Amino acid sequence: MRYKVSWSAVPSVGGVRFCALACFLEEVSGTVFKQRTLQHSINATGVGLHTGRKVLLTLQPAPPDLGVVFRRMDVGSVVELSATTENVGDTRLATTLVGKGVRICTIEHLMAALAACGVDNLYVDLDGDEVPIMDGSAAPFVFLLQSAGIREQNAPKKFIRIKHPVRVEDGDKWAMLEPHEGTRVTMTINFDHPLFSGDHNHASVDLSTTSFIREVSRARTFGFVREVEKLREQNLALGGSLDNVVVVDDYRVINEDGLRYPDEFVRHKILDVVGDMYVLGHWLLGAFSGYKSGHAMNHLLRQAVLADSDSWEVLTFPDEDKAPVNLTQPIPAASASY
Ligand SMILES: [Zn+2]
Repeated sequence: MRYKVSWSAVPSVGGVRFCALACFLEEVSGTVFKQRTLQHSINATGVGLHTGRKVLLTLQPAPPDLGVVFRRMDVGSVVELSATTENVGDTRLATTLVGKGVRICTIEHLMAALAACGVDNLYVDLDGDEVPIMDGSAAPFVFLLQSAGIREQNAPKKFIRIKHPVRVEDGDKWAMLEPHEGTRVTMTINFDHPLFSGDHNHASVDLSTTSFIREVSRARTFGFVREVEKLREQNLALGGSLDNVVVVDDYRVINEDGLRYPDEFVRHKILDVVGDMYVLGHWLLGAFSGYKSGHAMNHLLRQAVLADSDSWEVLTFPDEDKAPVNLTQPIPAASASY
């Protein structure tokens, strides 16, 4: 019998982890990096951020090597769309799957939670065209996944490793993936607004040493009062409220409780990247960096990577000793507390 420390299960107080006080030990048997799905189905109801419609979300266990498959349950015979780059058809303010006559909007926060919890295979059933926004972050999805329980499957987990740099640009915006022993996301945002003039526009999260769940997953989506009217004219943000968006007026955050992290805005962009890169199909081994990158740039980057077959490879780690040690850390144990 062997044990490993599950870093994400170690409590953090003021950002400091007390390993000596709380080493949660997880039993490890056989191959370390196995594919994962849920132990049980679980559901939640919420409103779509952009459509404003109420939707029932049901997460169901799925067989090995299936990936994440979204299913529209409300359109006569069930329509399935895999969470793949080729199925992404709209990137205005969200990542949206389009195909077979249906849309499935705003998949990115759920995808980020699936990535961080190491869930490889899942059916995501919806009775509407948008994943519910919940509180605007990935934390409620992490809670759902952990409540359902995460189960290892008898198949090796696959990773996508970046072998040489790939970069995309659009005006002054850019995004890049580079080889890296582990997984790191670095993001810089730049808004012409007094709230964004400080030190909180840049963040780099090494998912090898940082708990995505505790330090990124709670960052909420954000928006500007001055843009709300424009968005609603385009039938976007119809479900947005102070319950699911950090709203910024000309000077400050208007949500009564303020921010969850001083740099919540850029952390949310990092959350989006984790979700968007998981649409590549596997946990990413590489370093992402971006300047003003959003869903559209993230999509361009995925397309550029997939178009350059020399820039990446899919691999497994059947032998624990040959894997980058940090790979175990972003993946919580089924028993991890949230
Ligand atoms: Zn987002």
